[in-house]
Amino acid sequence: MKKLLVLLAFIAAGASAQSVMVVPQPTQVEYRKGKPVVIEAADIDSALAQAKTQIVPEMGREEYTMEIARKGVNVDNGVLICGGSEAGVFYGLQTLKQMLVSNAVWTTENSVASAVFTLPSVWIHDKPAFGYRGSMLDVSRNFSDATDIKKYLDMLAMHKLNVFHWHLTDDQGWRIQIKSHPELTSVGSVREHTLIGHGGRQPFEYDGKPVAGCYTQDEVREIVAYAAERHITVIPEIEMPGHAEAALAAYPEIGCTGGPYEVWPRWGVNNEVFCAGNDKTFEILEDVLEEVIELFPSKIIHIGGDECPKERWKACPKCQARMKAEGLANEHELQSYFIQRIEKWMIAHGRNILGWDEILEGGLSQTAMVMSWRGSKGGIAAAKAGNYVVMAPNSHCYLDYYQARPTDQEPFGIGNYIPLEKTYQLDPYEGVPEEYRKFILGVQGNLWREYIRTMSHTYYMLLPRLAAIAEVGWSYPNKDFESFKSRLKTMRILYDIYGYNYANRDDQPLQ
Ligand SMILES: [Zn+2]
Repeated sequence: MKKLLVLLAFIAAGASAQSVMVVPQPTQVEYRKGKPVVIEAADIDSALAQAKTQIVPEMGREEYTMEIARKGVNVDNGVLICGGSEAGVFYGLQTLKQMLVSNAVWTTENSVASAVFTLPSVWIHDKPAFGYRGSMLDVSRNFSDATDIKKYLDMLAMHKLNVFHWHLTDDQGWRIQIKSHPELTSVGSVREHTLIGHGGRQPFEYDGKPVAGCYTQDEVREIVAYAAERHITVIPEIEMPGHAEAALAAYPEIGCTGGPYEVWPRWGVNNEVFCAGNDKTFEILEDVLEEVIELFPSKIIHIGGDECPKERWKACPKCQARMKAEGLANEHELQSYFIQRIEKWMIAHGRNILGWDEILEGGLSQTAMVMSWRGSKGGIAAAKAGNYVVMAPNSHCYLDYYQARPTDQEPFGIGNYIPLEKTYQLDPYEGVPEEYRKFILGVQGNLWREYIRTMSHTYYMLLPRLAAIAEVGWSYPNKDFESFKSRLKTMRILYDIYGYNYANRDDQPLQ
């Protein structure tokens, strides 16, 4: 590690001595006259600790300024960070950390490494363009333990992202302990084996390796607190009415056919969904949500809502009876009934629902929020209807898609192709008329992990594309891909120091 630091720091110092090479690009950077400020410290943390910080409540909550000067207006030979809250100060420190590593020269004396950080005389002002800057991690298809999640949260913080969307349940695994319904994890978190490859035609081939794991409620609390210390809100996702087979394996009575069900070992869209005609379905889901809202202080709870085939509902006497009783014209309206019934419960408990853009189908209440994934059109329609929207279109934000070609030289994945530049081109306001832009909360990168089993592969897919999402979230509309690419050098140093794998091929032309 030390050798690596010395080498990398020299490269960085040579390439970008005394400049502000950080991601996301701050709103304003003014270089001032005066000699650079030199900080000597044993490591990055002790260099950071030398910065003075101050909270200025008149500023925006996530806004910060940073003055670095030998003899400045408010600072004497050092660094002063002012933030509108602790979050603002925290983001200022993230910027400073990047400036330190990109302007460091490491020395080794008596086998103890120390560094000289030479910082330019500069004034920085920064605030995010969007209040919601998220990253979704799927832990259902493949599980990562609490320690890995914490390290992932450190990585989000490094990018000044402020939402962790935690995809906790799906057909292939239920990952959160629910004390009132222990079978959800004792049965629903254990997958016997997994399909090899993409599947396609039968007979299916399986790998013979079980996948299991879940988070205890104590672990969830720990993770939520760890995230909060890094100014990250954790939004849990409990999928309904589709992507439900792991839950049905535990409680077959709330599926339309009664089973038998299995924790699904294949991928794609599954016909087995929660029965919308059975009151027991809602009783169990409300028990689940009761425990979920106890664990997660987030005002927003994600309830999925995507990819719910209607075959079972069409053939189910209970579902058909429900449609008749409620005067519902078709199964799309039954889906809308399902979502709105859950939303009513959620609102009564002081929370709002967020769902994938399918929740628009069959009618949507005014308070539901929409995550636009099938391109931006769902998000645009929702914004025009006055619903709040997170833009995560699969044209730019699906970070499980390949990022480089030829794809057969990449780790095996789901397919498709989104190079770094494409992600960077994301415009959250594209197609949204001016008067509805206030409904666009922000942006998110999504990582589905059907084919991603390790954290090393996880980071390889996320980085550096997540840095592009972060820059859209903070710096929009001031974007410049060439400048971004040169500033990524700093991020690569950070990734190396903290042990995050990343893809290194930002030279892929757009095709
Ligand atoms: Zn049914």
